Amino acid sequence: MPTIHCPECTGTTACGKSHVYVIELDAAAAGHGPFRDDDPAGTPPRGYLYVGMTRHKPECRFQQHRRFATGEDDFECRCFGDGEPVRRTFRDHDGHRRTGGNRLAGEFGRWLRARLHRRHNPIADPDEALQREAELADELRAQGYRVHQA
Ligand SMILES: [Zn+2]
Ligand SMILES: [Zn+2]
Repeated sequence: MPTIHCPECTGTTACGKSHVYVIELDAAAAGHGPFRDDDPAGTPPRGYLYVGMTRHKPECRFQQHRRFATGEDDFECRCFGDGEPVRRTFRDHDGHRRTGGNRLAGEFGRWLRARLHRRHNPIADPDEALQREAELADELRAQGYRVHQA
């Protein structure tokens, strides 16, 4: 069964190719991080979005951002392998630095905007996926959204 984010992923596992994905952010993101200069009391833009790229299922990647932002050390992933859950850590080899999530996406993310990214997925070439990610972010900016791409 395909998912609403990628015609080649299944309900449990990822297709193994790259995906671009769009997360809608709460308007409260105004004034934070890359949007620090936005006036929360000013005229709101069409919306706040986060655009990223991943080999995980976009649903899994969104959960990673959320768990990262709330200070969790790991997340559960079924994307690769036989669909059994695997715990993956946000800590590096030394067990110190936490990497692997975006605080803004996790803190202000509301939901995935499948209609904005599905037609692009999946993307077999990782370099092409990076390029598509940047293009999609620019497209959405041109449509009036405030976009953080990382
Ligand atoms: Zn896929
Ligand atoms: Zn995953």
